[in-house]
Amino acid sequence: MGFRRKKVVLVRIETSPEDLKGMNSAEGILTARGGMTSHAAVVARGMGKCCVSGAGSIKISYKAKTLEMSGNKYKEGDFISLNGSTGEVYDGMIKTVDPEMSGYFGKLMKLSDKKARLAVRTNADTPLDARVAREFGAKGIGLCRTEHMFFGGDKIIAMREMILAEDEEGRRKALAGLLPIQRKDFEGIFEAMHGLPVTVRLLDPPLHEFVPHDEKGQKEMAKVMVVSLETIKAQVEALSEVNPMLGHRGCRLGNTYPEITEMQSRAIIEAALNLKARKIDARPEIMIPLTGTLAEMKMQEQIVRTTIEKVFEERGQKIDFMVGTMIEVPRAALTADKIAQSAEFFSFGTNDLTQMTFGYSRDDAGKFLPIYIEKGILKNDPFQVLDQEGVGQLVEMAVKKGRKTRKKIKLGICGEHGGEPSSIEFCHRVGLHYVSCSPYRVPIARLATAQANIMNKRSWKKMNK
Ligand code: PEP
Ligand code: MG
Repeated sequence: MGFRRKKVVLVRIETSPEDLKGMNSAEGILTARGGMTSHAAVVARGMGKCCVSGAGSIKISYKAKTLEMSGNKYKEGDFISLNGSTGEVYDGMIKTVDPEMSGYFGKLMKLSDKKARLAVRTNADTPLDARVAREFGAKGIGLCRTEHMFFGGDKIIAMREMILAEDEEGRRKALAGLLPIQRKDFEGIFEAMHGLPVTVRLLDPPLHEFVPHDEKGQKEMAKVMVVSLETIKAQVEALSEVNPMLGHRGCRLGNTYPEITEMQSRAIIEAALNLKARKIDARPEIMIPLTGTLAEMKMQEQIVRTTIEKVFEERGQKIDFMVGTMIEVPRAALTADKIAQSAEFFSFGTNDLTQMTFGYSRDDAGKFLPIYIEKGILKNDPFQVLDQEGVGQLVEMAVKKGRKTRKKIKLGICGEHGGEPSSIEFCHRVGLHYVSCSPYRVPIARLATAQANIMNKRSWKKMNK
């Protein structure tokens, strides 16, 4: 549309993986629906892009290609500017400067590391993100969302083939195609983080985000899978859920379709062994998502360990690895002592934990949260600033229960709160070992970890003695 090589802002009602090409090309992203932890915000943050998500008062017409905001109407080609930190959208093109790590800033960062107790890791899904975060001082990856690894290029097609498969045979066929893709991607990530831990989370895609909803995408999948358009349509229909966020995702997927967990475990360990042969030190930590019961965790752990033992036998070589879980379902926090029987580490997924504790949909809260804050019902957006009184109680309880069962259990946080200073202070007080945040938030997190330790010298030591 004549915008090639121009700086553009992508304006959408909400985003899905179908918008990835657009998100990649855009300088910034503005959505009417969503919030701090919606698809647009999470993906944009990972890409290091500016994003204002959940601007509930704007009106977008896809048909007319217009945006209405504060009484003004904008059409394709008009200028707007975004401030992703404050959520403000400005009329016209505002001058910006690229941030730099200046001399004094570098010194401050080094000083922060000296004073801090908590390590700062990053949430990264690509080698590029991992390298950026490492340059910003990240000490490992706390969350690699493997479903995001399928966003680039044509990989989404392979992922859709797996999701749309009608039976186990079809799924295994698609998974065989996904294995080399995953293994190569893991090699890239491990290499970028050599010598540092990398927490790889097994697949956790809300399925609605990944199936093609438009006819063009459905026709494409029919061609790839050599089935009729009707078959694809029926499968998309069968996969549709009333509430996908609480549906067939996380370890529910890996427990109902164990072949997915098998493929991913194999890809992770084969990648690590391939790197070992090149003298690159890969330290995988395999993380099970959305665990709610010990039985769910145990079943996943068993699939992971059995698969890995098989790979070790085939290759005649071994490597150290860990198996742990996210704590993001309230029930997991309440039964953390049990879950720690199987999990070697906990990583608090405070995006989902906030969603499920408040009962606020991550994708829809943008509609009412600003009003709640304006009316004083809430002091902050709980998806941005950890609700220490409620959600924090669950975190603290899980820490205590987890440690009771497994004294040396490794503890971290990988929800968006891992990059927010007051939440980082809370994490320090309850004795976590690391916070993990998107690459561009690493510097602020490093400063916050030092400040937290200076303010609460005793608490961390007491918890970790
Ligand atoms: C979380 O729920 O906090 C989390 C990190 O996982 P995701 O945002 O991918 O659901
Ligand atoms: Mg989650």
